[in-house]
Amino acid sequence: MANSKYEYVKSFEVEDEVMLPNLIVVRIDGRDFRRFSEVHEFEKPDDGRALNLMNACATAVLEEYPDIVFSYGFSDEYSFVFKKTSKFYQRRASKLLSLIVSFFSSVYVMKWKEFFLEKELKYPPSFHSRVICCASKEVLQAYLAWRQNDCHLNNLHDTCLWMLIKGGESEREAQKLLKGTQKQHKNELLFQKFHINYKNLPAMYRQGSCIFKTEVEENVKYNENGTPVKRLRRKARIVHSENIAGKNFWNEHLSLLK
Ligand code: ATP
Ligand code: ATP
Ligand code: MG
Ligand code: MG
Ligand code: MG
Repeated sequence: MANSKYEYVKSFEVEDEVMLPNLIVVRIDGRDFRRFSEVHEFEKPDDGRALNLMNACATAVLEEYPDIVFSYGFSDEYSFVFKKTSKFYQRRASKLLSLIVSFFSSVYVMKWKEFFLEKELKYPPSFHSRVICCASKEVLQAYLAWRQNDCHLNNLHDTCLWMLIKGGESEREAQKLLKGTQKQHKNELLFQKFHINYKNLPAMYRQGSCIFKTEVEENVKYNENGTPVKRLRRKARIVHSENIAGKNFWNEHLSLLK
């Protein structure tokens, strides 16, 4: 109630506005998904159903919150980038991250059956989240490059690890064989021992997924004489680009951040 004698406690709320002109990024990540993926028998190293479910949840986030203009994800994580001038929830970090992470979790549970058909969801998954404050477009690019590099290194490592395990090694032994090895060694191991050219694995596994809205022309209805009436609609598009942080990508899609 307004003007009650207790109202002074409102001033104890943590102030956490992300100041302009910083760019706001929110990253969510599955809590203990190592266990979650085991309990739900994800295919290893990459369960395509789980990745497609994550992509569907991220698409739903972009559709729900128009101020989110770009997102990038892999494994059990997703980063969401707000447009530069966003005033959504007065740019308060706690409001933004709680909205996104709770909406994402709800959609994950609602859509589970669409992707896992007969597989029962055994317990409620949860996600943690944080806000990253990027002082410039260049910092945002560096942030995305860092996440995509993580995707690449983790996926290469996990691909080797699981090929070794499927080939008969124990997990401990496989870990030991890979410890301290460089990218080149891992690529060679895959090629020589398992005849796998890492580059030929699906781009979604190797590069992660980015989602952003582009304008597409759609037929909304037909006139009496049968000619289509076209409208420009903003639609979420998923791409598995090699270098989402690169200058070329951002020069092409710079208008996203405005
Ligand atoms: P934390 O709570 O710290 O995030 P975590 O167990 O989720 O703990 P992460 O570093 O986030 O740790 O790792 C995600 C885990 O989920 C990895 O073990 C990864 O193998 C598994 N995982 C996530 N998505 C998939 C997928 N699509 N297919 C197979 N495994 C997956
Ligand atoms: P905001 O996003 O700002 O929180 P809000 O619509 O949730 O918007 P609140 O002030 O939180 O606004 O009010 C909660 C609303 O939900 C009220 O309209 C209230 O009537 C309704 N509501 C919540 N719980 C119940 C309930 N158990 N029974 C009936 N109505 C409920
Ligand atoms: Mg996790
Ligand atoms: Mg993770
Ligand atoms: Mg409410």
